[in-house]
Amino acid sequence: MKFIDEYRDPERARALLDRIRRKAVHEWTIMEICGGQTHSIIRNGIDQLLPPTVRLVHGPGCPVCVTPLETIERALAIASKPGVILASFGDMLRVPGSSKDLFMARSEGADVRIVFSPLEALQIARDNPQKEVVFLAVGFETTAPANAMAVWQAAREGIGNFSELVSQVMVPPAMSAILSSPGNQVQGFLAAGHVCAIMGWEEYEPVAERFHVPIVPAGFEPVDLLAGILQVVEMLEEGRTGVVNAYGRVVSREGNPQARKIMNEVYEVADRPWRGIGVIPASGLVLCEAYARFDAEKRFDVGHIAPQESPLCRSGEVLQGHLKPSDCEAFGRECTPLTPLGATMVSSEGACAAYYKYHRNTTF
Ligand code: SF4
Repeated sequence: MKFIDEYRDPERARALLDRIRRKAVHEWTIMEICGGQTHSIIRNGIDQLLPPTVRLVHGPGCPVCVTPLETIERALAIASKPGVILASFGDMLRVPGSSKDLFMARSEGADVRIVFSPLEALQIARDNPQKEVVFLAVGFETTAPANAMAVWQAAREGIGNFSELVSQVMVPPAMSAILSSPGNQVQGFLAAGHVCAIMGWEEYEPVAERFHVPIVPAGFEPVDLLAGILQVVEMLEEGRTGVVNAYGRVVSREGNPQARKIMNEVYEVADRPWRGIGVIPASGLVLCEAYARFDAEKRFDVGHIAPQESPLCRSGEVLQGHLKPSDCEAFGRECTPLTPLGATMVSSEGACAAYYKYHRNTTF
């Protein structure tokens, strides 16, 4: 606890804020990629303490938010099949499909279970050999190694009744898509510290070089975030680009080689749709040929699924930093955490949900 308190120390935070205020002479727009960082920023009021020259916008780094509605519908369709146990993390179960979520499917009789790890889902498969167990495997590079490990282990043990419905996405292609999008305002990034703990930061260097932006891996506590913001501001003011790590106690350049190895063995890179944004080239992971037999999408034919998003929702613009959540006309009216219309209100990590929870209902 003492260790974490260091990174919540008001004196250290104040000193960093003073340095940011002195340094930020010009106007800058910085995106924090991760939903966990967004919530920490809003919860601690960091965006309101920064000088008016530093504007934070919130990125697409919330796995629940960017999981396509089509994947939710597919999970619901698979869960409704006889003899299927569908398992996932709890926050995925309350993501609404077109007419219901997985919790409602469970109340209607489907065997839907909350697990805390994919290996727990694999254990359910071992314990229920007469059933088909499907793990809804979503997330960024943080969840991919454990999800890959479950498939690898199933293959090693010859467990034939386990499969994954995979919706894995990756951060660097999303950064490139944001920086390439018409009307982009983002000039620098805070990269997500936990993603970089797995992947390191080598993959960010080509992005920084191509788009001439600073990218700074940063943590989640107020002092971590302020140190990251200060680093980005200094680089912008000095005209420097590249990757500089502000989360040295967790992140190394090469990341976690063992985690990357298992990911690379089980998954391969593919184009992937992101909810609210659309397809981003080479931004996702799918099971590679050697493990394709564990692909629930191939194992269960649920027909063509083409759900419609709410026409009121502007989460795609929120996720790309074009819009603040409170600028959406449906925010807090038609769209609340209990009646979410879109990606960024669905999850407790979403930017719209953060603005709602912490009463940020004024426009930027
Ligand atoms: S407030 Fe709701 S409707 Fe508006 S962008 Fe956010 S999720 Fe979509």
